[in-house]
Amino acid sequence: LPAPALEALEAYDVARLLPVPGATAHKYTRGVVGVRAGSSTYPGAALLCVAGASSGMAGMVRFVGPDAVADRVRGHFPEVVGPGRVQAWAVGSGGDADAEAMLRDALADDVPVVVDADALAHLHHSGSTPRHRMVLTPHAGELAALVGESREEVEAAPLRHARRIAGHWQAVVLLKGARTLVVHPDGRARVNTTGTPWLATAGSGDVLTGLVGSLLASGLDPFDAASVGAWLHGEAGSRAAESGPVVATTIARHLTGIIGEVTHRM
Ligand code: AMP
Ligand code: MG
Repeated sequence: LPAPALEALEAYDVARLLPVPGATAHKYTRGVVGVRAGSSTYPGAALLCVAGASSGMAGMVRFVGPDAVADRVRGHFPEVVGPGRVQAWAVGSGGDADAEAMLRDALADDVPVVVDADALAHLHHSGSTPRHRMVLTPHAGELAALVGESREEVEAAPLRHARRIAGHWQAVVLLKGARTLVVHPDGRARVNTTGTPWLATAGSGDVLTGLVGSLLASGLDPFDAASVGAWLHGEAGSRAAESGPVVATTIARHLTGIIGEVTHRM
């Protein structure tokens, strides 16, 4: 069978998919997202992942990590709470040596998981199953490590390699780059139409991971959460770029405004 063609989301699709809270909503019906990210080497990744998670659609963000990192997270985000039940996890950004434990602990819960950065390298012994409804968020280098090929090889046929990994893990693959692809394990694929090369900045992907986690917690399925997350992240980056070079913190800062505009367009 020929592979299905690439789809693209428009602002209208994003607006339709975003779960605007109804009159009787409370924070738990909106969903709780948990973040396991950052390390003593990369504490900032925890902050950026949490920033993405708090700027999405979930009603609550939990952070789980070592005290030193958790203290910094709470210092920046007074709304973030500690361990407890979640409807989705975002794990791995800046996780360094802790990434394996982050992934294993997240997979112990029966909820969807966004797997980023260092955690991607530990999928093999993590106990992941299709039931976990994972979203993997590699850039080309990280996808290359997953397929055991060179980065050049992956960049020459990104869709083919992303489909292979999506099928292998029965997970949605959000392949990040100048052209971001979102691939479903059944072979369907979407191409993201938003964004700017200014997004090529440290910590940019960490914000995306938290955002996709928030969208999963709010009830989007993994394919839609990944595609809507990439779309919003790209728009926020473009908006941030209007006032000069982009840093990851400003991507996160523009997310809520972009969501506001999109949802009011309906
Ligand atoms: P990471 O490599 O994990 O920090 O993620 C980088 C983020 O920036 C992803 O969302 C990429 O899609 C985005 N990005 C990187 N380079 C470009 C580019 N040249 N054009 C558009 N987006 C990019
Ligand atoms: Mg990254």
